Amino acid sequence: MEGTVDSHTHVSLLPFEGLESMALAGVRKIIGCSIFFGAKHAETLFDHFQQMLTLSMSNAAKNGIKLFLAVGIHPMGTPEDWPRVVDALPSYLKMSGVIGFGEIGLHEGNKREQEVLREQLKVAREYGVPVIIHTPPQQRVEITEKTIEIAAAVGMEPGKMIIDHANLDIVDLIEDFGAIPGLTIRQEGLTPHLLLNHLERFQRGVLNSDYSNLKPNDPLSVPKTVRYLELNGAPPEIIARIARYNAEEFFGI
Ligand SMILES: [Zn+2]
Repeated sequence: MEGTVDSHTHVSLLPFEGLESMALAGVRKIIGCSIFFGAKHAETLFDHFQQMLTLSMSNAAKNGIKLFLAVGIHPMGTPEDWPRVVDALPSYLKMSGVIGFGEIGLHEGNKREQEVLREQLKVAREYGVPVIIHTPPQQRVEITEKTIEIAAAVGMEPGKMIIDHANLDIVDLIEDFGAIPGLTIRQEGLTPHLLLNHLERFQRGVLNSDYSNLKPNDPLSVPKTVRYLELNGAPPEIIARIARYNAEEFFGI
């Protein structure tokens, strides 16, 4: 199918050729999420956001891709002076192309991470914007439960949350809460094969590559997954929803 959406990509780590390949494979819209591994200072994140707003926006446009941005503090790069970033978040919402906050969430699940997540969710609730939430490779059920507990406590609307890297272990938790499952396709997580075998359970979800340099990744995982599902007889309306319409509705893009 044409016109797919990659709902979670770390565009600052994506080479120009990656964007070009995605465009050639039919990706038309990308949500670019923030991450600066090991960030120590608020300024590091401000520069990171600025790079996405300028260079990444321009590179996407040159490839005929519409880029939308989510800014925020990723738990793998929380500056020591992180409250300064939280204070600045509303100012980014005024900028063209910024649609919400992400990638935010818990990685180890410690008290500091919980506080950083809570404060960012408070801003998201106040401004009524969507968020893209990380889930880690370890202690997935406990950490997803903790994430949901924090979101509920600040009064975050579940329908404004994508809880990402969903798999069979947490998809029911996400659905029961009323959030949208983010479907990151990669070898060591949700594979196209697994998705096909449990498509009904994932049909409210949004496909993405979560492209970054943190682990092996494939910027073409969304179009490749669509092709795999099509070749294996998955219902076209479900493919269209997870590869395009669910994300377009969620983000209003
Ligand atoms: Zn990510």
